[in-house]
Amino acid sequence: MWYYIEMKKFYKSTEQIENVLLRCRSIRCPICGKVNVLRRHGCRTGYIDGKLVTRCWRLYCDKRYGGCGHTPSLRLSGTLKGKSFSVKVLGLFIEALVMGYSIKSAWVYCKYAGCLRTGYRTYHWLRNSQTNIRNALYEFIDVREMNTNTSSFIALFELFKKAFKDYNISAFQLQTQKNFGFP
Ligand SMILES: [Zn+2]
Repeated sequence: MWYYIEMKKFYKSTEQIENVLLRCRSIRCPICGKVNVLRRHGCRTGYIDGKLVTRCWRLYCDKRYGGCGHTPSLRLSGTLKGKSFSVKVLGLFIEALVMGYSIKSAWVYCKYAGCLRTGYRTYHWLRNSQTNIRNALYEFIDVREMNTNTSSFIALFELFKKAFKDYNISAFQLQTQKNFGFP
Protein backbone atom coordinates (compact mmCIF):
# COMPACT_ATOMS: atom_id res chain seq x y z
CA MET A 1 0.00 0.00 0.00
CA TRP A 2 1.19 3.51 -0.87
CA TYR A 3 1.18 6.05 1.92
CA TYR A 4 2.32 9.63 2.35
CA ILE A 5 4.48 11.40 4.89
CA GLU A 6 3.60 14.75 6.44
CA MET A 7 6.68 16.94 6.37
CA LYS A 8 7.90 18.45 9.60
CA LYS A 9 9.93 21.62 9.82
CA PHE A 10 12.22 20.41 12.62
CA TYR A 11 13.96 17.11 13.22
CA LYS A 12 16.16 15.90 16.02
CA SER A 13 19.01 14.45 13.96
CA THR A 14 20.62 14.47 10.54
CA GLU A 15 19.83 10.74 10.26
CA GLN A 16 16.12 11.44 10.66
CA ILE A 17 16.28 14.12 7.98
CA GLU A 18 18.20 11.85 5.59
CA ASN A 19 15.61 9.12 6.14
CA VAL A 20 12.78 11.46 5.26
CA LEU A 21 14.61 12.81 2.22
CA LEU A 22 15.11 9.27 0.89
CA ARG A 23 11.35 9.04 0.63
CA CYS A 24 10.80 12.62 -0.59
CA ARG A 25 8.32 11.53 -3.27
CA SER A 26 5.96 10.34 -0.55
CA ILE A 27 6.08 13.66 1.31
CA ARG A 28 3.06 15.91 1.04
CA CYS A 29 4.11 19.43 0.05
CA PRO A 30 3.40 21.61 3.12
CA ILE A 31 2.50 24.56 0.88
CA CYS A 32 0.25 23.15 -1.86
CA GLY A 33 -0.62 19.82 -0.24
CA LYS A 34 0.20 17.75 -3.33
CA VAL A 35 2.10 14.49 -3.26
CA ASN A 36 4.64 12.95 -5.59
CA VAL A 37 5.88 16.42 -6.53
CA LEU A 38 8.82 17.02 -4.17
CA ARG A 39 12.41 16.44 -5.22
CA ARG A 40 15.63 16.99 -3.30
CA HIS A 41 17.04 20.45 -3.82
CA GLY A 42 20.40 20.48 -2.06
CA CYS A 43 21.12 22.14 1.22
CA ARG A 44 22.20 25.45 2.66
CA THR A 45 25.32 25.79 4.72
CA GLY A 46 26.32 28.53 7.09
CA TYR A 47 28.30 29.33 10.20
CA ILE A 48 26.85 28.48 13.60
CA ASP A 49 29.02 29.09 16.68
CA GLY A 50 31.94 29.61 14.29
CA LYS A 51 31.59 26.23 12.58
CA LEU A 52 30.46 25.64 9.01
CA VAL A 53 27.36 23.45 9.19
CA THR A 54 24.29 22.51 7.16
CA ARG A 55 21.58 24.99 8.08
CA CYS A 56 18.76 23.30 6.19
CA TRP A 57 17.94 20.62 3.63
CA ARG A 58 15.72 21.80 0.82
CA LEU A 59 13.08 20.20 -1.32
CA TYR A 60 11.69 21.57 -4.56
CA CYS A 61 7.99 21.25 -5.36
CA ASP A 62 8.53 20.56 -9.03
CA LYS A 63 6.24 22.41 -11.45
CA ARG A 64 6.90 19.78 -14.10
CA TYR A 65 4.87 17.38 -11.98
CA GLY A 66 2.15 19.87 -11.11
CA GLY A 67 3.89 21.25 -8.03
CA CYS A 68 3.80 24.82 -6.74
CA GLY A 69 7.48 25.73 -7.21
CA HIS A 70 8.16 26.42 -3.52
CA THR A 71 11.22 25.07 -1.75
CA PRO A 72 10.19 23.85 1.72
CA SER A 73 13.07 22.98 3.99
CA LEU A 74 13.82 20.56 6.80
CA ARG A 75 15.95 21.70 9.69
CA LEU A 76 17.66 20.50 12.82
CA SER A 77 15.92 21.61 16.00
CA GLY A 78 19.28 22.82 17.33
CA THR A 79 19.56 25.59 14.73
CA LEU A 80 17.92 29.00 14.84
CA LYS A 81 16.55 30.63 11.74
CA GLY A 82 18.81 33.44 10.57
CA LYS A 83 21.11 33.28 13.61
CA SER A 84 24.84 32.63 13.74
CA PHE A 85 24.67 31.00 17.16
CA SER A 86 23.19 27.73 18.38
CA VAL A 87 20.24 27.11 20.68
CA LYS A 88 22.77 26.21 23.35
CA VAL A 89 24.33 29.68 23.27
CA LEU A 90 20.91 31.33 23.27
CA GLY A 91 19.80 29.15 26.20
CA LEU A 92 22.80 30.32 28.24
CA PHE A 93 22.14 33.95 27.30
CA ILE A 94 18.54 33.65 28.51
CA GLU A 95 19.65 31.87 31.67
CA ALA A 96 22.01 34.74 32.50
CA LEU A 97 19.31 37.36 31.81
CA VAL A 98 16.90 35.53 34.11
CA MET A 99 19.60 35.48 36.79
CA GLY A 100 19.65 39.26 36.54
CA TYR A 101 22.83 39.77 34.51
CA SER A 102 23.12 42.87 32.37
CA ILE A 103 22.92 42.31 28.61
CA LYS A 104 26.68 42.75 28.38
CA SER A 105 27.47 40.26 31.17
CA ALA A 106 24.91 37.78 29.84
CA TRP A 107 26.59 37.93 26.44
CA VAL A 108 29.95 37.20 28.06
CA TYR A 109 28.33 34.39 30.09
CA CYS A 110 27.12 32.52 26.99
CA LYS A 111 30.67 32.56 25.59
CA TYR A 112 29.64 33.43 22.07
CA ALA A 113 32.53 34.87 20.09
CA GLY A 114 30.42 37.42 18.20
CA CYS A 115 30.43 41.11 19.02
CA LEU A 116 28.36 42.74 21.74
CA ARG A 117 26.15 44.41 19.17
CA THR A 118 24.82 40.94 18.32
CA GLY A 119 24.06 40.53 22.03
CA TYR A 120 21.94 43.70 22.10
CA ARG A 121 20.22 42.74 18.87
CA THR A 122 19.45 39.29 20.30
CA TYR A 123 18.05 40.82 23.47
CA HIS A 124 15.69 43.07 21.48
CA TRP A 125 14.67 40.18 19.25
CA LEU A 126 13.74 38.20 22.40
CA ARG A 127 11.75 41.11 23.77
CA ASN A 128 9.88 41.54 20.49
CA SER A 129 9.17 37.79 20.31
CA GLN A 130 7.65 37.53 23.79
CA THR A 131 4.04 37.34 22.65
CA ASN A 132 4.78 34.60 20.12
CA ILE A 133 6.73 32.53 22.63
CA ARG A 134 4.06 33.03 25.30
CA ASN A 135 1.26 31.99 22.93
CA ALA A 136 3.21 28.91 21.86
CA LEU A 137 3.74 27.93 25.51
CA TYR A 138 0.05 28.39 26.31
CA GLU A 139 -0.79 25.70 23.78
CA PHE A 140 0.57 22.99 26.00
CA ILE A 141 0.84 24.41 29.50
CA ASP A 142 -2.07 24.19 31.89
CA VAL A 143 -2.90 27.87 32.34
CA ARG A 144 -4.44 27.20 35.77
CA GLU A 145 -1.04 26.16 37.06
CA MET A 146 0.54 29.47 36.18
CA ASN A 147 0.67 32.40 38.46
CA THR A 148 -0.95 35.47 37.01
CA ASN A 149 2.25 37.43 37.02
CA THR A 150 3.58 36.10 33.72
CA SER A 151 3.48 39.35 31.83
CA SER A 152 7.14 40.18 32.40
CA PHE A 153 10.05 39.06 30.31
CA ILE A 154 11.72 37.20 33.20
CA ALA A 155 8.49 35.47 34.23
CA LEU A 156 7.97 34.26 30.69
CA PHE A 157 11.35 32.55 30.63
CA GLU A 158 10.84 31.10 34.10
CA LEU A 159 7.68 29.58 32.71
CA PHE A 160 9.63 28.36 29.69
CA LYS A 161 12.17 26.70 31.99
CA LYS A 162 9.39 24.94 33.87
CA ALA A 163 7.77 23.68 30.67
CA PHE A 164 10.99 22.34 29.17
CA LYS A 165 12.93 21.48 32.33
CA ASP A 166 15.58 23.93 31.16
CA TYR A 167 16.12 26.66 28.57
CA ASN A 168 15.86 23.92 26.00
CA ILE A 169 15.01 25.78 22.80
CA SER A 170 15.65 22.70 20.71
CA ALA A 171 12.85 20.92 22.58
CA PHE A 172 10.59 23.94 22.03
CA GLN A 173 11.17 23.86 18.26
CA LEU A 174 10.64 20.10 18.11
CA GLN A 175 7.44 20.20 20.12
CA THR A 176 5.84 23.27 18.56
CA GLN A 177 7.34 22.82 15.06
CA LYS A 178 7.74 26.59 15.08
CA ASN A 179 10.84 28.73 14.88
CA PHE A 180 11.73 29.98 18.33
CA GLY A 181 10.33 33.50 18.36
CA PHE A 182 8.79 32.80 14.90
CA PRO A 183 7.76 33.64 12.14
ZN1 LIG B 1 3.95 22.47 -3.43
